[in-house]
Amino acid sequence: MPSVYIETYGCQMNVSDSELMLGVLAREGYVRTDDPTAADVMLVNTCAVRDHAEQRVLGRMGELKRYKRPGDVLGVVGCMAQRLGPRLLERVPQVDLVIGPDGYRSLPELIARARGGERAADVAFKGWEHYEDVPPVRPDSASAFVTVQRGCDYRCTFCIVPMTRGPERSRRLADVVNEVTRLAASGTTEVTLLGQTVNSYHDGTHDFADLLRAVGTVPGMRRLRFTSPYPTDFTERVLAAMAGTPAVCEHVHLPVQSGSSRVLKRMLRRYDRARFLEVVAALRRAISGLALTTDIIVGFAGETEDDFRETLSLVEEVGFDDAYTFKYSLREGTPAVRLKDHVAEDVKTERLERLITVVRRVAARRNMALVGTTHEVLVEGPAKRGGLLQTRTRTNKVALVEGSPDWIGTYRRVRFTGTTGSTFTAWPVEQERTLVG
Ligand code: SF4
Repeated sequence: MPSVYIETYGCQMNVSDSELMLGVLAREGYVRTDDPTAADVMLVNTCAVRDHAEQRVLGRMGELKRYKRPGDVLGVVGCMAQRLGPRLLERVPQVDLVIGPDGYRSLPELIARARGGERAADVAFKGWEHYEDVPPVRPDSASAFVTVQRGCDYRCTFCIVPMTRGPERSRRLADVVNEVTRLAASGTTEVTLLGQTVNSYHDGTHDFADLLRAVGTVPGMRRLRFTSPYPTDFTERVLAAMAGTPAVCEHVHLPVQSGSSRVLKRMLRRYDRARFLEVVAALRRAISGLALTTDIIVGFAGETEDDFRETLSLVEEVGFDDAYTFKYSLREGTPAVRLKDHVAEDVKTERLERLITVVRRVAARRNMALVGTTHEVLVEGPAKRGGLLQTRTRTNKVALVEGSPDWIGTYRRVRFTGTTGSTFTAWPVEQERTLVG
């Protein structure tokens, strides 16, 4: 049987898309391999959000091309493929095919053409494409990602995603529920709904509130997560659905990007600092014990020291449980290329370090307060060190626990015994607790 190796960079949407590509190729008889040297087809699923990510992929292509034997195929897929298109074929002569996020259906055809010596790209947007008939090939796990929306209609000036993933479109609610029902039947108990602005989901009849209620009540579905929401798309209906659906977890990843209203305006985010704080307050009123994480960009064009301090103060004021922090990276093709007053690299670096210090301090303070408390955790798998198990709370806190490998995929109650500031050590408080489902 032919084998395919897929290396995935970037966000969870890319992880989910790699599972779809495996599904497309499984129908052609391909099996997955984790060894690129043994693969007949090597695919690199890429991210275009930061220049650094693209440079990493180009470096990696230099390594993978060495594993190519006669007849093997090397492809670049995903957002960077969409952004650069046929230019990638010129830039890396060993690359045989380039496919954007809407073109995965053409993988078998382009692979066959590559075997015939033809190098090709498919980077057309297909507004109808949801891969509804393609069963994703997922790892055997209690958790699964389910894409419910593709593309983005927002135009944040720093972001390349609308250019790489095209306009927003949502899957039909019934199709999502059917997929989740099948997952539940095969033992999945935790689902993360994916979309670029997932809470703006609308299939023409049903909104995100309907989707949460429908997915959250699929028998066997114990935990429901979603990422990433857009702050101002939390309608009263969505808040009520979150509060009224027990499976919805007490964690929201709420990208703020900056604490300065002036910078948010330049980013074309559709809220200012005050509005963001209102959304935080509304979420906390709706969901008690809510954990909040965020994304923050430092050094966006025109960001002054005062603007940056507003970001620091917002982190303190909200009390985020964690934050993904990034230096702004100018992307060709985004509206921000037209902005002036770009921030010097050394200033960005210095601000990033200061931000990380504050984020860690705020997170550590919140996490220290949790030592001694008990939580339900899902046992995800072996931890990277110490022969322990890695587990996760509903609030998305990671705790390392001593236990049997049989516990993987089951839910346990644990007491937090200590914290590094970001992760926890924990102790099981009840043996032989609930099994999957
Ligand atoms: S909402 Fe903004 S940041 Fe998010 S994907 Fe769309 S354009 Fe990019």
